Amino acid sequence: MNPKDQIKENLSIVDVVSTYVRLEKSGAQFRARCPFHNERTPSFYVSPDRKSYHCFGCQAHGDIFTFVEKIENIPFIDALKILADRAGVSLKDAKRNEAESRLVSLLKDTTLHFENNLKQSAEAKEYIFGRGLTDETIATFHVGYAKNEWRDLFVFLSSKGYSPEEMILAGVVIEAKDDTGKTKGFYDRFRGRVMFPIRNISGATVGYSGRILPSLATDSQGKYVNTPETPLYHKSKVLFGYDTGRKKMNETKEVVVVEGQMDLCMSYQAGVHNTVAVSGTAFTDEHIHMIKRFCDKVILSFDTDSAGQAALKKTGLLCILGGLDVYVVGDIGTKDPADLIKDDPALWVKALAKKKHVIEFLADTVLALPVDERTKGQKIVSEVLPFVRALTSPIDRAHFLRTLSEKTSISQDILTEELGRGILETSELSKEVEMPSVPPIERLSKELIAFAKLHKKEAHDEFISLSLDTEAFPDVIIEEEMFSLEKRVIGDKEAYFKDLMSTYKKEEHKAELVRLQKKLKEEGADIEAIMVQIYDHVKKRLN
Ligand SMILES: [Zn+2]
Repeated sequence: MNPKDQIKENLSIVDVVSTYVRLEKSGAQFRARCPFHNERTPSFYVSPDRKSYHCFGCQAHGDIFTFVEKIENIPFIDALKILADRAGVSLKDAKRNEAESRLVSLLKDTTLHFENNLKQSAEAKEYIFGRGLTDETIATFHVGYAKNEWRDLFVFLSSKGYSPEEMILAGVVIEAKDDTGKTKGFYDRFRGRVMFPIRNISGATVGYSGRILPSLATDSQGKYVNTPETPLYHKSKVLFGYDTGRKKMNETKEVVVVEGQMDLCMSYQAGVHNTVAVSGTAFTDEHIHMIKRFCDKVILSFDTDSAGQAALKKTGLLCILGGLDVYVVGDIGTKDPADLIKDDPALWVKALAKKKHVIEFLADTVLALPVDERTKGQKIVSEVLPFVRALTSPIDRAHFLRTLSEKTSISQDILTEELGRGILETSELSKEVEMPSVPPIERLSKELIAFAKLHKKEAHDEFISLSLDTEAFPDVIIEEEMFSLEKRVIGDKEAYFKDLMSTYKKEEHKAELVRLQKKLKEEGADIEAIMVQIYDHVKKRLN
């Protein structure tokens, strides 16, 4: 018997599911309110005989592996490990485990090296202390410094016995190639940067976010550089501060979401331990799943500039659709949280206490605009009502309609009528978030790239033309993705990929592709946004 079957044999699905969901007996089966979508009456069934679960509401189904994968929000391989542990089965795939633990120890050594560098760099210390961080916070977050040299880390890791391949795989070293594609040498990815380790749930470093020292900043360099996707680091699945924040998150059932790494450290320093940050990436529904494991309320703090406010709206709506109660931090002027806290930590705590529900916040923002009443009313309908519509509870919807009516003096009847007009649209939107059978964007892009790599045909060129970096996905990930794909309800894998690809070939999408490519060239590549659009097309086809 292979280890996977052995695990399935040893464990009862009822025991596994009961760890997360309260089951009640129903004939030969057990049932519960589905953990994968919002519902009032139970339509989630577990069958001990068939060793499977099925939700009649959202069609989620599978076995213990897919269940743990989904509810813990982790890759298949990690679900396998957790369940192997629980079942007392040793995994024979020791090679991959060993390779992975090599990467973990490589990053551990790297973090220590960066921490030592910081102790020796007067300039880096001056910068960090200048921003207000204390020794204690620096130690808590293992903040370090990457020297402004090309091969400092490379030489150090070599002396520790790591190979260049391992360093590249871990995302800390880059290979330099000449015109013919031959290796010229290796250099450090992070140079002259204050280093913030990114840790997974169990506290192991999986990547870094590096901030350039102000004296070294140039226009051509990003202020922040993050680890690319690696076998350990998946940006859509990592929240900065999740490991330091989870205890308080569990206690308070609340989480504060800030934009920057420095904001996170300073908020923690101000005693708000339940703070997380999404740095350099948009909020995903995977992040929401992570938060929902501990919290039902999220407090957002985003920049007051237009980009920050757009991100706030997008994130707020996603959180509401995900079933979270969404608040916005009270006015802190034009400062970011880090600078505010540096001046006076009490001001931050006060601003958090003055949080407003996102719907009230947005309404107040519209009402403060220097425009006439009619325009304000239109803006309330177009910009604020979608958030009311997204609320899952009818009681909440009624409450906020009343609030809006009081604030605007538009009658509740009219607001209700306007709300009804867009109702179809929003129920479509919420389906999107709740449908676990639709692969998330991140995974979809990997699947597409996996397809391209496997077939090495014209598909490859299409992805290149969309400037999807196939090299950013090492083979090991692709294997893993393919492996977990087989676990899913796709049936014929080949046909599934073909179907995806035919979507691209259709004439009606050609124009869209051209438009996207043009957009890429003009604005610089925002792959995520583009993937969202591609994703929409593919999804429409799959439905
Ligand atoms: Zn369900």
